[in-house]
Amino acid sequence: MKTLSDLTFTQLQEKLGEDGVSPANASLIFRMVNQGSVEIAELGKNIQRWVSEQEVLKPEVVREVASADGYTRKFVLRFTDGREIETVLMGYEGRHTACISSQVGCAMGCVFCATGKMGLLRHLTAGEIVAQVHFLNEILAKDEKAPIRNIVMMGMGEPLHNFVPLTDALEILTDPRGPGLSPARISISTVGHVPGIRKLAKLEQNYSLSISLHGASDEERGALIPINRRWPISELLGACRDYTSETGRKVFIAWTLIEGANDSDDHAHRLAKILKGMEVHVNLIPLNPTEDFDGRPPSEERTLAFLEIVRDEAEVPVTIRQRRGIDVGAGCGQLVI
Ligand code: SF4
Repeated sequence: MKTLSDLTFTQLQEKLGEDGVSPANASLIFRMVNQGSVEIAELGKNIQRWVSEQEVLKPEVVREVASADGYTRKFVLRFTDGREIETVLMGYEGRHTACISSQVGCAMGCVFCATGKMGLLRHLTAGEIVAQVHFLNEILAKDEKAPIRNIVMMGMGEPLHNFVPLTDALEILTDPRGPGLSPARISISTVGHVPGIRKLAKLEQNYSLSISLHGASDEERGALIPINRRWPISELLGACRDYTSETGRKVFIAWTLIEGANDSDDHAHRLAKILKGMEVHVNLIPLNPTEDFDGRPPSEERTLAFLEIVRDEAEVPVTIRQRRGIDVGAGCGQLVI
C-alpha cells in the first residue's frame, strides 16, 4: 500500500477523494509531509484522524561515517522491510548536494562498481527515494545549515530502471509545496538505459542528464558495462542527441578513467571523435577504488593529457570531477551494503 511519502500532489488529491475526504486539504497535508511547515494540530479533527491512519516513511539510521576532511557523510538507512541502502551528503562551499539511491543493489553489473556486485534486490518506492532527501534535510536543519540545493541520482541503482517511482519522487521534490528543488539542479545519472532516456525527454520537467560512457567502442565499453550489449553506443548517443533537441539541455558525459584500460591518448582521440558536434559536457572521474575490482586511477598528468585531447578535438567543455568521500567508500561506484 502506498504511504503518504509516495504520493505526488495530484495522487494525494485523488486518494483523499477516494477516501471521502475533501481534496481541498491536500495542500496542507502535502506541506506537512514534504516541507514540515505545517503541524498535524493545524489540520481539522477529521483530517487528523485520516492522517493518523496513514504512514509517513522515516528510515532508520543504521550507521553513519564521515570523511576525514569532514565534507562527506555517508548514512546507511534501513526501510520497514529491513532492506538497507546508502545515501550520501556532500558539502561544498556554501551548499550541500545529496547523492540519492534508487534501488537496493543494481541489475546492471558494471564491473568496477560495488553496488553492481550485489545484483538487484529490489526497487525503491517513490517514498523511499523522497525520504532520503527529507532525512538529509533534517540533519542539515539540526546543524542550522541550508537545505539540500542539488541532488544527484548517483547512489545505489540505475535510476531509469525504476522509472515511475523515480519520476514521482522527483515530482514531489520539485513541488513548491514540498522541498521545491529546481529540476535543473537534479541530475539523473544513467549507465545508458535508452528507453528511460527517451521517456525522460518527454516529461514536462527537464532534469539534468548524465551518461556513464567509459568506453568509445562497443567492445571496450561492453567489457566494463554489460548493458552496452543491449543498447550499444550509437543507439545511446542517438538518444542523447534527441534528448538535447527535445529539451534544449546539453547532456553530461561521465568517463571513469581507469589506468591502462581507457586513459590513453588513443582512447581520448576516439572519445573526441564520437562526441564531436554534440551538445555535451564531459566529466572525467579518476577511478574510485573498490575491493573487488583490480583497477587504479591514472596519474594527474595522464588525466590532464586526456582532458586536453578531448577538449581540443571534440570542442566541448571537459572537467575533472571533484572527488569526495573516497576514504569512507562514499564515492562513485563504491556504495554497497
Ligand atoms: S555503476 Fe550504476 S548502473 Fe552500474 S552497477 Fe553500479 S549502480 Fe548499477
